[in-house]
Amino acid sequence: MTDFTSLGVKDIRDGVAKGDFTAREVATAFNAAVAQAASLNAFIVTTPDHALAAADATDAARSKGETLGKMAGVPIGMKDLFATRGVQTTAASHILEGFIPEYESTVSSNLWAAGAGMLGKLNLDQFAMGSSNETSYFGNVSSPWQKEGSNAPMSPGGSSGGSSTAVAARIAPAATGTDTGGSIRQPAAFTGICGIKPTYGRCSRWGVVAFASSLDQAGPMARSVEDCAIMLEAMAGFDPKDATSLQMDVPNWEAALSGDLSGKKVGIPKEYQMEGTDQAILDSWEQGKAWLKDAGAEIVDISLPHTKYALPAYYIIAPAEASSNLARYDGVRYGLRDLPDGAGLQDMYAETRAAGFGDEVKRRILIGTYVLSAGFYDAYYNQAQKIRTLVSQDFEKAWAQCDVILAPTTPTASFPLGSLDADPLTMYLNDVFAVPASLAGLPAMSVPASLTKDGLPLGLQLVGKPFDEQGVLNAGLAIQQRAGFAAKPEKWW
Ligand code: GLN
Repeated sequence: MTDFTSLGVKDIRDGVAKGDFTAREVATAFNAAVAQAASLNAFIVTTPDHALAAADATDAARSKGETLGKMAGVPIGMKDLFATRGVQTTAASHILEGFIPEYESTVSSNLWAAGAGMLGKLNLDQFAMGSSNETSYFGNVSSPWQKEGSNAPMSPGGSSGGSSTAVAARIAPAATGTDTGGSIRQPAAFTGICGIKPTYGRCSRWGVVAFASSLDQAGPMARSVEDCAIMLEAMAGFDPKDATSLQMDVPNWEAALSGDLSGKKVGIPKEYQMEGTDQAILDSWEQGKAWLKDAGAEIVDISLPHTKYALPAYYIIAPAEASSNLARYDGVRYGLRDLPDGAGLQDMYAETRAAGFGDEVKRRILIGTYVLSAGFYDAYYNQAQKIRTLVSQDFEKAWAQCDVILAPTTPTASFPLGSLDADPLTMYLNDVFAVPASLAGLPAMSVPASLTKDGLPLGLQLVGKPFDEQGVLNAGLAIQQRAGFAAKPEKWW
């Protein structure tokens, strides 16, 4: 009997289309795996009926000989940042607990139209703020991976930590993620899976709970480059409801996948050789260069001189935008309302927001409000915006020398849950290699490369030119073909 939960997107889609098995069998197997893995805390709510209904629709369409969608028969996990009609959408916050949208986000509705079904809403860092999935109101998510010789629960990365855990633990073949400053790539790297953040504007932000609107992008997380290409095709596309949506056709990324990099130049940015980066990460970067060379690429040294300013600029711009976006949660329009007896409107705002937001979210609102305040706007926010432009210009200059950039995804492998609680700056440093591409709006992907000597996954990151997801996916494929990453977390949950 097929072990359906070991299958990825392509295998499921093709197997269902060929009639090797039914979509219902697949959905049933994943629903059972989800129920059985509750201790990972990857899901905030499960929606087995949604997965079954979509599967039945696919099976019925197939039996009538209708054309099947790109994701037909594939049940997926949906990060709980995407509004889903009739299904609670919380952004992992208390303030949105019980909020049931009347509408469906564009990305999720594109996925349902392509034939995917929903296993449930995935846990995340609250309002997508975090790098470890420890800021959720609904509790930490545990990575399915553990260090050799230890059973301490490890971080699945963040903010898409429910997504990374579900895919790595084989309780979902794929999941949606969102990436504002690394939240697809860093959790993918921590859990030995793939994840791609497309060019800013490829996937509609409509119906995605906003964190930092000029940075937020949705993307797929799955166990292979092919699966990411398929799912990204289903998610992407112009949406008139999002003013920053790209008016461009969605390429057929899957069909054009090729791991042959002959004639391509891969840039190695010297500024990513940073102090504090683990030796294992530097070794895997070297290995990555060798793999891409073997795939036919020429390796060239490049310079992105403003790299070291990217992280501080991100931690000004993202909180600034967040403080403005989160002003809408006021006890009037959505979710929680805390109205003590005899209280006035102002008290209601204050009580609701005090009770409804977690500490990290409050920290971001305070920082954001501060950097936007009249006295400090020029000193912080305007400076950060100038740095953002310089970071983008660094990349533009680099594209004269190379087609794609290879770098580590993270400076370290995963860490035990709780170990960075008292150290927000080290936590923020997790994103040091991820945020430059976010600030510049570029497509960027993490692919699993190797394991540390403790048995934890490491990822390599590929950053591409604007709109060149294909170049990123192809370089990712070249690494995947050579890394042969087949390690799986041992089941303990
Ligand atoms: N870890 C980063 C932060 O906390 C990135 C989050 C994200 O990409 N959503 O802001």
